[in-house]
Amino acid sequence: MMAAGRAAQLGAKVILLEKNDCLGKKLLITGKGRCNFSHYEFDRTKIAENFGKKGRFLYGALERFGVSEVLDFFQSRGLEWKVERGNRIFPAQGDANTVLKVLTEYLNKGKVKICYDAKISDIMAPDDCSEKFKIILNEQKIVVETIILCTGGKSYPQTGSTGDGYSWAKKFGHTIIQPSPALNPIRTSEAWAKELQGLTLKNVSLQLFQKGKKRDERFGEMLFTHFGISGPIVMDMSKHIGQRLKKGNVKLWLDLKPALDFKKLDERVQRDFQEFRGRMFKNSLKKLLPASMIEVMVKLSGIDGEKKVDHISKEERKRLIHLFKELEITPKQLLGYKWSMVTCGGIDLREINPDTMGSKKMGNLYFAGEILDLDGPSGGYNLQECWSTGYLAGESAAKRKQICQ
Ligand SMILES: Cc1cc2nc3c(=O)[nH]c(=O)nc-3n(C[C@H](O)[C@H](O)[C@H](O)COP(=O)(O)OP(=O)(O)OC[C@H]3O[C@@H](n4cnc5c(N)ncnc54)[C@H](O)[C@@H]3O)c2cc1C
Repeated sequence: MMAAGRAAQLGAKVILLEKNDCLGKKLLITGKGRCNFSHYEFDRTKIAENFGKKGRFLYGALERFGVSEVLDFFQSRGLEWKVERGNRIFPAQGDANTVLKVLTEYLNKGKVKICYDAKISDIMAPDDCSEKFKIILNEQKIVVETIILCTGGKSYPQTGSTGDGYSWAKKFGHTIIQPSPALNPIRTSEAWAKELQGLTLKNVSLQLFQKGKKRDERFGEMLFTHFGISGPIVMDMSKHIGQRLKKGNVKLWLDLKPALDFKKLDERVQRDFQEFRGRMFKNSLKKLLPASMIEVMVKLSGIDGEKKVDHISKEERKRLIHLFKELEITPKQLLGYKWSMVTCGGIDLREINPDTMGSKKMGNLYFAGEILDLDGPSGGYNLQECWSTGYLAGESAAKRKQICQ
């Protein structure tokens, strides 16, 4: 939508082909329907580094249409925005529809022809007889000079993103970096995790281990579900967990009290036990744990819940502290594309000009959005990437056409 709108704004005749019967099916479910559409950070290198080493590819697009330009774009078209926890930017009205409305009006103003229920089944590259692409669409064939391929990744295929663009890009000579789900909930082995379903933990730390070595660590909020674990830190670590699972078993250590080291936590537990003297162990943890977690922790500690806290041995207390600091969770698998917020992998960035989003393999071919081999953490980075690359691709495609005319 951004690419089409920008190309049209610069005078190009644009046709937007969408296989759904509406635009923005995925956009409307972003940020739980509130659309975390950007991240409040104006330093392009800081935005880019969230995409890992490959993030440098985004410098050109962020320079041309970065966070501040995105905010101006939406605000000048009537969308007020607000910054929430973790610098996440949302529409002030808390409704993704307001973002879609701006984009739809942008398209309409540029007189972009929008075709719904327009499932592209194939695209044929220009050949010796024709200098145009042939798009095979339902029963029709459409002939166009330039293509901006924005079919997204493979995540949430129920929204229309089924990775269709990869095969056309491959046909045009592009390399596809093996796609895999990212920002994905995790299925875990432990039965107790299911007992905690619905419980959100804030300010906890999660560490990823493989072969005895710490491989990753995140701090923030997570959630227990009927299948295992989810929530921001789990989702952000899921790509790494998925990659590690391909190499063998991995373990997660959940630190429920990252602000306290073992010694300080022990002192704190002793103080609580002192306060709850004469009471049962199971009734002595309410200052340290959410109520719904106490039963599970008592069970895991192996300490009799009915035992008086004053009778708990040093050994037992040590076991409890260990549980608080290193509660072991075993990831079994990622939940897969159906529930992954983004796709890792996609069109190899080395084959795309970062200053134009144009293909280095074929003229008049551009890419933007999640189809690219780029994925960021949650926080508005992924949509920012889409706006930046989309705007640049639209602009480059339109300008190139003007030069050629
Ligand atoms: C549940 C969820 C929540 C998210 N929340 C956030 C968030 O709050 N903030 C954030 O930054 N990111 C979020 N994301 C990620 C973000 O939505 C995506 O990165 C972004 O939508 C990708 O945009 P895109 O235009 O590249 O691809 P898509 O949004 O996937 O759009 C691709 C479009 O191409 C169409 N298409 C595909 N194949 C064909 C074909 N053969 N013919 C015709 N049309 C076709 C599809 O129907 C689709 O409409 C979320 C994702 C999900 C799934």
